[in-house]
Amino acid sequence: MPIYEYHCCCCNQCFETLVLRSTDPPPRCVHCGADKVERLLSSFACKVASSGSGQQAPAAGCGSTGFS
Ligand SMILES: [Zn+2]
Repeated sequence: MPIYEYHCCCCNQCFETLVLRSTDPPPRCVHCGADKVERLLSSFACKVASSGSGQQAPAAGCGSTGFS
């Protein structure tokens, strides 16, 4: 049975959970109970989130502004 890693968008914590079926909806955050979690493909995002020494802007993607 695969163990998936999730990242909570609310408290910015990561947690692992056992997923019985891949079609199951994402679980709730074990830290704050929010359901705004995203599945991680690996633990890289967790490391990025927890090793926040410098204030970095989020990766570009949405909301590219004023570049005309
Ligand atoms: Zn949370």
